[in-house]
Amino acid sequence: MLGRNDLCPCGSGKKYKKCCLNKDIASERSSRKIGLSQKQYYELYAKLHEFSRNEKFNAEYERAKETFFIVEDEEINAKFERFFNTYFIQDHIMENKKVMTVEFFEENRDNLDIAERDILRSLFESYVSVYEVKEIKDEKVILKDCLNDKEICTEDINLLKDFKVGSPMIARVVTVGDTNILIDITISISDGIKDIIVSDIKTLFSQYEDIYKDMKTFLIHHTHILYKYIQQLLEPSIAEYLKAQREEKATKAQAVEVSEDDCKVITMLKQNIEDEFLQDGINFWNEYKKTQGEVKGAENGWAAGVEYYVKKEAGQTITQAQIAKKYEISPSTLGKRYKDLKA
Ligand SMILES: [Zn+2]
Repeated sequence: MLGRNDLCPCGSGKKYKKCCLNKDIASERSSRKIGLSQKQYYELYAKLHEFSRNEKFNAEYERAKETFFIVEDEEINAKFERFFNTYFIQDHIMENKKVMTVEFFEENRDNLDIAERDILRSLFESYVSVYEVKEIKDEKVILKDCLNDKEICTEDINLLKDFKVGSPMIARVVTVGDTNILIDITISISDGIKDIIVSDIKTLFSQYEDIYKDMKTFLIHHTHILYKYIQQLLEPSIAEYLKAQREEKATKAQAVEVSEDDCKVITMLKQNIEDEFLQDGINFWNEYKKTQGEVKGAENGWAAGVEYYVKKEAGQTITQAQIAKKYEISPSTLGKRYKDLKA
């Protein structure tokens, strides 16, 4: 064993006690602390996992799969099983509006110890985000959340040993006691990818600003978006598939622009409304036009009104502000059009 008075193995020529000893002690302390927290987390996770596979949740399991996975290829999807399980347990919002962790907490309230309750509380607030290493010092790494500018500190230096200051990543942080650990897989990404994801998500958030009070709340409710980026990054065939889909959509939008038969309201609908609502929207608009004869007013106002109407009818949770923003009109214009259409 290495003695305090031996030469330090780092090759400095100094005695160990005057060189790396303290650093090594600190590092050992950190890794013990991280190890203990991981153990606590994964023990609770095992219980959650078992609970979640009760057959009463089978239908929810299928629904979660539909939201989570991009392609219908079992072999490819199997690679993301671990992420999916985390999603299903910690993020998927069930038909009763609850997440599995909450359901578990309510059913096991009396059998949980304080540490387990604490971890569960942290899981309620956990999300996937894009981080960047801000600082590395004294066995600690400070990560900056690039989506909401918050900073967190972790002692999980082992996991992050290949990351340098400024390195971006996708990660999921969970707090266990006073320690932040990174769960599932931490994925290193390039600056370019980081910029794309951050800008995409900020744009998306701006459309929902009136529903979620801040970016963190938005992310807690939309972890599947980040998991979809993860699937694209780790599986080239998924990235290819999505690229082809985007191109097809762009071609379709172009084709719509040149066709002259359609009225402009339908053209706008085709560009904006999701495929599943398009036919209802067109039918509804054609019916409305038939009863009204000539319709006056800007097309985007009418198209927005139609989208809002059919989504409302379909029982979607949607606000006038969201739709108005999409069609670049004021919510009061949309309100007026909606009233006209409903009459
Ligand atoms: Zn040394």
